[in-house]
Amino acid sequence: MLTKAVIDHLQQKVGIGNVYHEREDLLVYGYDATPETRGLPDVAVFPVNVEGIKAALAVCREEGLSVTPRGAATGISGGSAPVAGGMALGLTRMNRIIEIDEENLTATAEAGVITVDLFNAVASRGLFYPPDPGSQNVSTLGGNIAENAGGLRGLKYGVTRNYVMALSGLLYDGTEFFTGGKCVKDVAGYSLRDLLVGSEGTLGIITEATLRLIPPPQDKRTLLAYFRDIRTAGEAVSRIIAARIIPATMEIMDKMTINCVEDYAAIGLPRDMAALLLIEVDGHPAVVAEEAAGVRRVLEEVKADEVHQAADATQAARLAAARRTALSAVARVSPTTIIEDATVPRSCLAETFAEIERLKEKYHVRVATYGHAGDGNLHPTAATDERNTQEIANVHAFFSELYDKVLAMGGTVSGEHGIGTAKKEYLLRQLGEGGIGVMRRIKDAFDPSGRLNPGKIFSDKPIASAVRRSGGQDV
Ligand SMILES: Cc1cc2nc3c(=O)[nH]c(=O)nc-3n(C[C@H](O)[C@H](O)[C@H](O)COP(=O)(O)OP(=O)(O)OC[C@H]3O[C@@H](n4cnc5c(N)ncnc54)[C@H](O)[C@@H]3O)c2cc1C
Repeated sequence: MLTKAVIDHLQQKVGIGNVYHEREDLLVYGYDATPETRGLPDVAVFPVNVEGIKAALAVCREEGLSVTPRGAATGISGGSAPVAGGMALGLTRMNRIIEIDEENLTATAEAGVITVDLFNAVASRGLFYPPDPGSQNVSTLGGNIAENAGGLRGLKYGVTRNYVMALSGLLYDGTEFFTGGKCVKDVAGYSLRDLLVGSEGTLGIITEATLRLIPPPQDKRTLLAYFRDIRTAGEAVSRIIAARIIPATMEIMDKMTINCVEDYAAIGLPRDMAALLLIEVDGHPAVVAEEAAGVRRVLEEVKADEVHQAADATQAARLAAARRTALSAVARVSPTTIIEDATVPRSCLAETFAEIERLKEKYHVRVATYGHAGDGNLHPTAATDERNTQEIANVHAFFSELYDKVLAMGGTVSGEHGIGTAKKEYLLRQLGEGGIGVMRRIKDAFDPSGRLNPGKIFSDKPIASAVRRSGGQDV
C-alpha cells in the first residue's frame, strides 16, 4: 500500500489523470489476455513522455517497487500481469508517430502506438509495415517488440525483429539507452537492440522505435483449400515450401475453428471439412500468377478436396479478417480459453496434427487448432473451464505431452507469444538449467535489482504476492 505522499508525488510528476491507485481501478491492470495468471499492482501509471517514466521509476526505486511494463495487455503468456505487485507502467499514452522518413524508408514512433495505426499511416504514403499480429487493431508497437510478435505475413516477410532498426528506452535504474539507428548495416558492438527485442519487458522499458518499411507488393492472390483429413493439409504446407514457393500467408484452421468462426462471422465456410488452408501469394504480377499456379498444382497433387480463389480483394480481406477472429471466436465457446504456441519444423506438421488428434482423445479435451501453418506455428487452443479442476488438469496434461513431442521433433515451446508466466516450465524443458542460467546472467546485467517485470520467463525465487489460479505453473 503506497502512502498518500507517494501518490501525490507521482500525480504531480506524471499528471493527476495518469495515476490510478483505487482498488477498483487497479483490478483492471492485474491481468492480460492469459487465463490463470493474475496479480494486483499497488499503482498503475500512464506517463505521457519519457520524463514521466523517469519520475515513475525514481519513485519505484525509492519505494522498492517492482515495475511491469504494459502495452495493450493482449499478451497471451502473462507478460504484463504484475504478479509481484508494484507498479503497472502503461505505455499506451505515449502514442505519437514521430516521423515517416520516405528517403530512408523508416518510421519512428512511440511505444504506445497501435500496430494498425502505424500500418495505415505508412500505407497512406505508399509504404508497407508487414508485421501483423492477429491483435493488430489493439496491440502496441512496444508490446510487439517486447514479444517479437509474428503474424499472418510472417512466412514471407518475417516477424517484428526483422523491422526493428533502433530502440530508445530506460533501464530500471534510470539509465537511458539508444541502440541502433537508420543505417541498414550496423555492427558497432553487441546488438543491444536484438537483446531487447523479445525480452518481454524484463530488460528495459522501450519508449520509442525506428522501424524498417518496404514498398508494398504490387499484386496478390488468395486461395482457399479445404481438406477432409487435417494431416493432408499439413502435408500440403510442407510440399508447397518444398516446391520453393514462399507465400506471404499460409494459415490453417481445423474443423472446430472453422465452426467457431462460422458461428461468429457467418461467411459461408464449410462446416463439415476437417481443415482449411488460407494461402496468399503476393509480389510482382507475373510472379503472383506463377506462384498461384504452383500452389494449385501442389494442392491437386495432395488431393485437396476443394480449391477456390478469392473473387476479389474484398473477399480476400474478409477471409483474412475471419482468420484473425479465430481466437476470439473459439473464446466464445467456454469460460476459459488456453491458447498454446507449439512450433515445429514445417516438415513435421502432418505428424503434429496426428499427435494433437491422438492426445485429444486420450485426455478428452476440446481443442481447436489454427495458426501460421507456413511457419510451423500452431495454436492448439483448449476450450475449458478453470473452475473444473479435473478438466483443467487434463488440459495441462494434454499440452505437457504435446510439448514433449514438439521438443522431440526439434520444435519450440513458443513461436511468437513468448514465455511470460505461462510457459516457464516448458522453457526449462527446452533449454535446461544451462540455457536458463545464461539468460539469468543477461537479466542481472540489465537489471541487477531484479525489479523489472519479475517472475517472467524463468523463476528466480517464488514471489509471495502472486495470485495463483487453479492449475497452471508457479509464477
Ligand atoms: C486475439 C489475439 C490475437 C493475437 N495474435 C497474435 C499473432 O498473430 N502473433 C503474435 O505474435 N501474437 C499475437 N497475439 C499476442 C499479443 O497480441 C502479442 O504478443 C502483442 O505483441 C502484445 O502487445 P501488447 O501491446 O498487447 O503488449 P502487452 O500484452 O501489454 O505486453 C506484452 C509484453 O511486453 C511487455 N511490454 C509491453 N510494452 C512494453 C514496452 N514499451 N517496453 C518494454 N516491455 C513492454 C510487457 O511487459 C509484456 O511482457 C494475439 C493476442 C490476441 C488476444
